[in-house]
Amino acid sequence: MSLEITDIEFSYPGHTVLKGVSLEVQQGSFCALLGPNGSGKSTLTKILAGVNRPSAGRVRFDGVDLLSLRRREHARTVGYVPQSAEAPFDLTVREAVLLGRTPHYGLRPGRKDWQKVDDAIELLGLTELESRRLSELSGGQAQRAIVARAIAQDTRLLLLDEPTSALDLRYQVETLQLVRWITRQRGITALIAIHDLNHAGRFCDQTVLLNGGRIVASGSPLEAFEAELLREVYGLDVTVEERDGYAEVRPVVHELEYQI
Ligand code: ADP
Repeated sequence: MSLEITDIEFSYPGHTVLKGVSLEVQQGSFCALLGPNGSGKSTLTKILAGVNRPSAGRVRFDGVDLLSLRRREHARTVGYVPQSAEAPFDLTVREAVLLGRTPHYGLRPGRKDWQKVDDAIELLGLTELESRRLSELSGGQAQRAIVARAIAQDTRLLLLDEPTSALDLRYQVETLQLVRWITRQRGITALIAIHDLNHAGRFCDQTVLLNGGRIVASGSPLEAFEAELLREVYGLDVTVEERDGYAEVRPVVHELEYQI
């Protein structure tokens, strides 16, 4: 039981973005999608989220063709935290998190739905903010509410597109720890598009490096973070070392002289 992505192709008009992308993620794994800006991380995430439709390829999850699931079934299977969440800003945190339950209930939420909402609010440390409107929150607080919505959705596949971009260091670490814990405890498979290689190396089981719409490395962080490859992909001199069992990537920074 795993996520199997096979030969995915995706183009915007006149512009091919994903080229023959194949990837397998084991059930219960926390997988990082890495790569420079424009390498295709969001596009791939949106395909799995049912937002983008690929021109070729297949996606199977738990043996089911993810691309042919009906909307409600898809929403019961896949939770998605988009990069720029169009948060319904007039809702309170609690109401916004409840939106994650809509695929699960009929006319109105039941006890189980509210329980999942309360659990997610607590897990994301939002208890004191639950009655505040999203419009009254900081970017990072609103981002945590959107993650809580996806957690309350209680799906077997969780997709997160740069969910920590607006978070301070504490909440970056706590959110990544939480997702890791959820994959461990509940056997949920999570995919995260993230820029911080060291956070990916610390919290993720699998790291996938995209460049120009192709996968150029995949494996454990210690396998996938190869200094020469990272230099080539990011166009930046880096060193990679193993520290306390984790891969640590450091940019080699040279002073620049600007001639203006
Ligand atoms: P990443 O998430 O790795 O930064 P994206 O998947 O967002 O990369 O983008 C991959 C490529 O697709 C980029 O070249 C980007 O400019 C292009 N792209 C993204 N969204 C659109 C769009 N709506 N229309 C046209 N091109 C797009």
